[in-house]
Amino acid sequence: MTTLETSRLWNAPTQTAPRELLDAIHLDKIRHLVGWAYENSPLHRRLYDEAGVRPADIRTWDDYHHKLPFTDKPHYVADQEASADGFGGIARGPETWQQYFHTTGTTGRFLNEAFTHYELHKAGSQYCYGLWDHGVRPSDSMYFCFDFGMWIGLWSFYWGARNLGLTIISGGGATGAQRVRQILERRPTIVCGTPTYLLHLAEVAKREGLDVRDAGVRMLAGGGEAGFSIPATREQLREAWGAEQIYDAYGVGEALFIGQSCAEWGGGVHVVEDVCHSYAVDPASGEPVTGSDAVGEHVLTSYCHFAQPFIKYRTHDLVRIDDAPDHGCGWTWKHMPGTVLGRADFMVTIRGVNVYPTAVENLVGEVPGLSNHYELHISRVDGMDRMLVKVEAGAPGADAADLGAALGRHLRDHLGVRLETEVLDVGALPRYELKTRRIFDTRSESERPIATLGGQA
Ligand SMILES: [Zn+2]
Repeated sequence: MTTLETSRLWNAPTQTAPRELLDAIHLDKIRHLVGWAYENSPLHRRLYDEAGVRPADIRTWDDYHHKLPFTDKPHYVADQEASADGFGGIARGPETWQQYFHTTGTTGRFLNEAFTHYELHKAGSQYCYGLWDHGVRPSDSMYFCFDFGMWIGLWSFYWGARNLGLTIISGGGATGAQRVRQILERRPTIVCGTPTYLLHLAEVAKREGLDVRDAGVRMLAGGGEAGFSIPATREQLREAWGAEQIYDAYGVGEALFIGQSCAEWGGGVHVVEDVCHSYAVDPASGEPVTGSDAVGEHVLTSYCHFAQPFIKYRTHDLVRIDDAPDHGCGWTWKHMPGTVLGRADFMVTIRGVNVYPTAVENLVGEVPGLSNHYELHISRVDGMDRMLVKVEAGAPGADAADLGAALGRHLRDHLGVRLETEVLDVGALPRYELKTRRIFDTRSESERPIATLGGQA
């Protein structure tokens, strides 16, 4: 008999359930949640009333797709600004809340988040599925390159590590050089951080005359940026740390980290279907898109956030969803190859061609002689969008003009449009511990494309 210890499945009964059964369970959960939100959240009641829909009207997938309105960040932000306590979409009172967070402000104003004790317990469980599949067991140890602030991402990774019983080592409040020394001294089996920061730490070590490969780290893990699913960045991380495993997790701050990778498919995540429902829509029409090759906007219903429900919530992340993945991992849960492919509301149109920052990151990583430290500067000149790609050379003394020309050709060959390029000296761009700032958009508010809300008014 397979025991939990020898099985790679954390919760086999649902993780391997047939699609029809999973979909039936999802529909039941969604119907219950819609009723809960209607009764308890003034925001949801108003949105459903405005759409002329009652919870009892949501009986089928067609009802869910076509009758129930989408929710979106601006709904919550407007509700939070009108509320006395500064939170939007609330369905349970502050006496039930255990911890506050807010989403990082890369897309405008903060959205405040409130979670109950139960929800934070569930939040850690999401990581168990993927980490267990990768052979992580209580004898492992995890080092956190993270100052514990208001961004929920790596906090939730910490709860996951606690849930699995790992030995925790906090790198909070330490400099990069101090972290390198702690890692070499403590020899954790897993180091957790954002991909950009983990590459930065490897550089810091070199400057200190040290080598992070001497720490014997088996796995690099984290999320918050696209890098862990980008083949070029995965390879750089593997090389810089000598790590065997690169672990990706995908999250939506409001609804937690709902995507986790299995060990069979590098560069993508399974949807953790115990805690949410995911599907993809055409960003313009709001109609579901199906088929594993179709790119659509990820729409999410979270089952682990009852205090502040997120139901049919537009994430604006562009994804592909494979409904029937066959990796040999045994999971029947949906899979997103490449995790997040771009942002539906952050598309730059250069001379008629849609350019997504993630696509540019992939391509920068493919040009020999360049590092993965880059910035995209977007501006509007004479009514036209322009993008300047600034990137650091991979080594000192490189020929910047030659490298810039090579990058320009590579981008044009793959994107079908010429972008401006500038190659800088090693270390010329700033380094960030958390979400790396790569995009500098100097267009005015009115010059930026507006995300559509599908069927909503
Ligand atoms: Zn898999």
